[in-house]
Amino acid sequence: MKKNFAFYLGLLVVQKLIGQVTLTVDSDLLLGKKEITTTTKEFTLLPQAALAFKEMQTAAKKDSIDLKVVSSFRSYAAQKSIWNRKFERFTRGGLTGPVAIKKIIEYSTLPGTSRHHWGTEVDLIDGNKKVEGDVLLEEHFHQGLYQKLHRWLQKNANRYGFEIVYTKDSLRKGFFYEPWHYSYAPLSKEFLKGYREKELIYRIKLDSTLLGKEFISPEFIESYYRENILGINPLLKQ
Ligand SMILES: [Zn+2]
Repeated sequence: MKKNFAFYLGLLVVQKLIGQVTLTVDSDLLLGKKEITTTTKEFTLLPQAALAFKEMQTAAKKDSIDLKVVSSFRSYAAQKSIWNRKFERFTRGGLTGPVAIKKIIEYSTLPGTSRHHWGTEVDLIDGNKKVEGDVLLEEHFHQGLYQKLHRWLQKNANRYGFEIVYTKDSLRKGFFYEPWHYSYAPLSKEFLKGYREKELIYRIKLDSTLLGKEFISPEFIESYYRENILGINPLLKQ
């Protein structure tokens, strides 16, 4: 039987009621080797994160904000196409391979290392505002149409378990500031803990069709792990 989203939500509610939510850290999921099958029309998240997100969405609606998910679960294949598209664009524009990769990892991850593989992450905008062009730009959240959304999330997201990942902090290295990216902390904190304990970074497989693969050395992986994967909001680390 193919279990649908409602089935998983129902199961979750029952588990919550009897206090039996136990967490298993699934290495394949964290490495992007697994698809999440519990999906709604709007987003794909693990059931527990989906339930919390729905609650947050309802609360935001009362304040006239339409929490719209631009991106949630993303497969390895989807992440690889983002990577390859950027690598091609940057190298066609004249950058060398290593410089192109440095630019890709301002905002995008190496496939197999994206937190979006985990089913706990969302990129959010306000569906009530009509923004032209690229919606995920810092300026929209600080001066533009998503200011209200930004302030609302800063004030309220943690009540529902969501925390910003890539904070505005000049001491933080790795990915650039992303005011739109939130993580469901009760799960993702455990996932990161498991990721570190199991040293999953050393188990990522670089696909033969990944562009720029030849520039990804063990030294690159070391600094990428330290600065990008661990260079996040301290509230999401334990
Ligand atoms: Zn994101």
